[in-house]
Amino acid sequence: MPVSSRPRSSEHSSSDPTPTSRPLIGVLALQGAFDAHQRALDELGASTCQVRTPADLADVDALVMPGGESTTMSRLLQTAGLFDPIAHRLADGMPVFGTCAGMILLATEVLDGRTDQCSFGAIDLSVRRNGYGRQVDSFEVDVDVDGLADPFHVVFIRAPKVERTGDAVVVLAAHDGVPVLARQGHVLVASFHPELTSDRRLHAMFLDMVHTSAATAA
Ligand code: GLN
Repeated sequence: MPVSSRPRSSEHSSSDPTPTSRPLIGVLALQGAFDAHQRALDELGASTCQVRTPADLADVDALVMPGGESTTMSRLLQTAGLFDPIAHRLADGMPVFGTCAGMILLATEVLDGRTDQCSFGAIDLSVRRNGYGRQVDSFEVDVDVDGLADPFHVVFIRAPKVERTGDAVVVLAAHDGVPVLARQGHVLVASFHPELTSDRRLHAMFLDMVHTSAATAA
């Protein structure tokens, strides 16, 4: 379906008089740092809404999965009836940006997860929950990102550590040889929290992905 023909949510945060001309970016708002992501996208002029139900999801053209607690989000995705609808949309090519816990939810393999924890397997990665260990629960570094002229300051909070990348995965940034930003087709993931700094270049990168995917589908 062409992106512009999707019905629009009444929760638009934008005052654009012609919202149907722009993709609607949903931010999964079950738990975690969803507000900051929505603000970042709003600052870039995107049309955004929060996604809590399958009806919300049906309105959106792309989705951001925030950081938080992947075990809790996995449970809430099931109880909200969102897991299967999101899995279908991902299989359909919906662009998605998963950060930290969102990255865990999108990976094919979760190490040190709870046994009942579900993930979408949308990007061929093995990630270890809290893989950077207790001593370095949270830390900040500058990393070079493919496609960005200047380094990006990244904030890790109990971050997942990537232990394996599949052949289809493109690593866009690494720290100490470990991928921290990666893409596979319409799936972009970061093990850090780009929404917690004022640098909007990664959200802009995701919006470019969304626009490219909308142009291809039209
Ligand atoms: N450690 C968290 C988890 O397992 C992720 C932390 C985060 O999103 N900041 O889901």
